[in-house]
Amino acid sequence: MLYLYNTFSRQKERFVPLKQGEVRIYTCGPTVYDYAHIGNFRAYIFADLLRRYLKYKGYKVFQVMNITDVDDKTIKGAREKKVDLKVFTQRYIQAFFEDIKTLNIEKVEVYPRATEHIKEMVELIKVLLEKGFAYKKGDSIYFRICKFNRYGKLSRMPITTTRREIREEDRDEYAKENPCDFVLWKAKKEAEPFWKTEIGEGRPGWHIECSAMAMKYLGESFDIHTGGEDNIFPHHENEIAQSECATGKRFVRYWLHCKFLLVNNEKMAKSKGNFYTLRDLLNKGYNPLAIRFLLLSVHYRHTLNFTENALRQAEETLKRLNDFCFNIGDYKARLCPSFRKDSFLQRIKRAKEEFEQAMDDDLNISSALSALFTLIREVNTLMSKGEIGREEVEEVEGWLRKVNQILGVLRFEQAEIGKEERELIKQREEARKRRDFVLADRIREELKKRGIIVEDTREGERWKKNS
Ligand code: AMP
Ligand code: ZN
Repeated sequence: MLYLYNTFSRQKERFVPLKQGEVRIYTCGPTVYDYAHIGNFRAYIFADLLRRYLKYKGYKVFQVMNITDVDDKTIKGAREKKVDLKVFTQRYIQAFFEDIKTLNIEKVEVYPRATEHIKEMVELIKVLLEKGFAYKKGDSIYFRICKFNRYGKLSRMPITTTRREIREEDRDEYAKENPCDFVLWKAKKEAEPFWKTEIGEGRPGWHIECSAMAMKYLGESFDIHTGGEDNIFPHHENEIAQSECATGKRFVRYWLHCKFLLVNNEKMAKSKGNFYTLRDLLNKGYNPLAIRFLLLSVHYRHTLNFTENALRQAEETLKRLNDFCFNIGDYKARLCPSFRKDSFLQRIKRAKEEFEQAMDDDLNISSALSALFTLIREVNTLMSKGEIGREEVEEVEGWLRKVNQILGVLRFEQAEIGKEERELIKQREEARKRRDFVLADRIREELKKRGIIVEDTREGERWKKNS
């Protein structure tokens, strides 16, 4: 039984989807005015972990991640570069998709762009105007928070103290009825992109974008909404207000937020200049899957302080895991005895249960991984003594493959190479150690003829089938 920590209730709650067997998720996606930093990717990798674990448990997942391609930051960026907004954002949208692929983040079902959903936003604002939850001041439109008595329930922020927290996006030169009211529609301004619509000429506020796109693809009520902890207020608070006032229904059942990625114990943020993009780290030669592994391996509700040292350790751990995958393949190919030890099959079953129990406890990945590592250590010892049989090893391997559907960091192709080729790879490694590079190169050529490409990477020697 899966339990998730719901920010709304500040409690772990048993997860029950609205529709049996199916889960609908909305994840606040990138604002495309620059390359995403790895703090942003922590939020997306957390959403990926959630998605993959739900799938592992047999749920059908339908997930939406928006792309904010119009807001103050994107407009400012395009103006500074003197290019059209669309041209400006396209570059970062493309970079974002390249980066998620590099980090092996599964693609979600829909990536709606704000600029392609102006019609839906206008419709939503019209409903809010009709129902008296929104009002016009100048040519802008605001949400009247005093009309929604549940305002502040998610963030538990008393309305009177919220003013300091109001972000730039929500400040406006036109006087609002209440300083805490937030903008739904911004009047057209000189040199800014705008849309001609029934509610006037202008552009949407940031918060309405997510409400409109979430409800278009997921319906008026859906299961899970995720984001980073900075989204709780005001963004998600405002999403609730806009959506629930328009529909009269509960918008989201489970609100999940991941804690920040820190650098020197400060939030990693573009405005602070203390950030690393994925590209920065790749240029330094780090393995992208180790970056994924590091961001994923700390429970999402704990802050994670990023250091290159921690990244190097993640590389080491990942190398050991991949070596283990290889060793299993090697053991099976060479010396695997055929006896069967039921007690060890039981032991594997227990490790699986421990892993799943930890994940069921609000995705407690650190504890789940520790169950996995303990089993791996035991299997390694048994393999080194030839004391584990084929059936058991295959069971471990099968489970690791399944776990990797969640982790997405292991490379099994290492294990799928024939006995002779394995021997050649070993010989090459030994030749390299002896600094006999002539022989090492000759063996590399021989392997190439057999369709195997050997690479010397930071993770050590790796090879892949040249398919
Ligand atoms: P933005 O592009 O600024 O709208 O942020 C996109 C996503 O990244 C949001 O869900 C943020 O909450 C999240 N985010 C931003 N900075 C961090 C950080 N340092 N650690 C974790 N998540 C972050
Ligand atoms: Zn959002």
